[in-house]
Amino acid sequence: MKLIFLGPPGAGKGTLAGLVGKQHKIPQISTGDIFREAVKKQTELGLKVKSIMERGYLVPDELTINLVKERLSREDARKGFILDGFPRTIPQADALNSFQVINAVINFQINDDIVIRRLSGRRTCRSCGAIYHIENRPPKTEGICDNCGGELYVRDDDRVDSIKKRIEVYKNQTEPLIQYYREKYLLKNVDASVSVEHSIEEMNRILWT
Ligand code: AMP
Repeated sequence: MKLIFLGPPGAGKGTLAGLVGKQHKIPQISTGDIFREAVKKQTELGLKVKSIMERGYLVPDELTINLVKERLSREDARKGFILDGFPRTIPQADALNSFQVINAVINFQINDDIVIRRLSGRRTCRSCGAIYHIENRPPKTEGICDNCGGELYVRDDDRVDSIKKRIEVYKNQTEPLIQYYREKYLLKNVDASVSVEHSIEEMNRILWT
């Protein structure tokens, strides 16, 4: 199954893609994670994208498209994958069309107030990237990752100013993809406002029954 997870920041795409990917043994390919890793390692790519990400803007299309194209050409993505956070613009979607056939696009629906509450409470593990929330999904020990013992931190782009910018960027640049994929009969809506479990249940019902 080759899937795209679409939805505003804070809809839970990362958490859901991680869980569903594991369940169905397909890789979760998150452009955000790839960029964050590059920033952490201070690679050439990381240095290019650091300030763009911190301010909540999008990384240029060409750079992002080449990165995804290379990632999808690897063996582990042959049978299936979940694209988490890509495409985010019409040119990215057009490019993806030219080198991949997608089976479905899951559109996670959620309103802005919930997004802001969720993202400002989000904590991410500095070592393994696992995601927690101070209210909904707290770690067993405050500030420490349950999986690997790494330090939990607030991503720069999870600060309120950046969150508002990311929502605006989403509405202007990414939301048009909903209509784009609806016209291709690929769009499946999932209510992402309730809980992770609820989203997974709805998704499984839509995709695998
Ligand atoms: P995410 O973890 O998906 O919220 O992504 C974090 C940040 O990485 C975004 O705010 C962008 O700056 C950048 N990014 C991730 N995916 C893309 C993409 N497909 N196109 C452009 N920028 C992206």
